[in-house]
Amino acid sequence: MDIDLRRGNIVPFVSEIQKSFVSLSLRKGVALKFHADEESINMDFDPDKIELIFFNLLSNAFKFTDNGEVNLRIGLAQKDGKDCCKLVVQDTGIGIIEEQIDKVFDRFYQSENSRWRKNKGTGIGLALVKDLVDLHQGHIDLKSISGVGTEITILLPLEQEISDTQSEM
Ligand code: ATP
Ligand code: MG
Repeated sequence: MDIDLRRGNIVPFVSEIQKSFVSLSLRKGVALKFHADEESINMDFDPDKIELIFFNLLSNAFKFTDNGEVNLRIGLAQKDGKDCCKLVVQDTGIGIIEEQIDKVFDRFYQSENSRWRKNKGTGIGLALVKDLVDLHQGHIDLKSISGVGTEITILLPLEQEISDTQSEM
């Protein structure tokens, strides 16, 4: 998979993605809240891939939440001495059973909590999200409590280091 990096402000870009979930939010009666700590975060990112990441995460959040809310927050953070953009998708949904949390990034894995869900999908979304975050040299962390909700945190370095192998391509 190739990465097609652009440098720009990711805040309005992510804001537009979450807006495409407003009608689903109203239909399901699950609130959608967006909060940006900064008006502007200029960084290197691949727009199509960032869109895929948040499309998948927000789809999951709404699919597995029947009451309450879905929150998306964007801000700045540090990771391994690097300035990063921090993006958090949090929901008050069914959550994931503790023993299964490590498996949800595996391709085709679907946790028992969600087995009875309609529109259950194929179990590929989070595996793809993980690959796309890796492609941005980022980190992803999932916290979940069964019956309480799920929180996914993504850290993406503001500046992408182009390795020798990448620059040769
Ligand atoms: P697909 O994404 O291919 O349509 P999927 O949503 O089932 O299918 P993933 O997005 O990879 O697959 O998620 C894997 C599993 O992790 C889900 O089936 C579900 O069990 C669990 N999961 C993911 N996100 C959440 C969430 N926000 N709340 C509760 N469970 C979740
Ligand atoms: Mg999914």
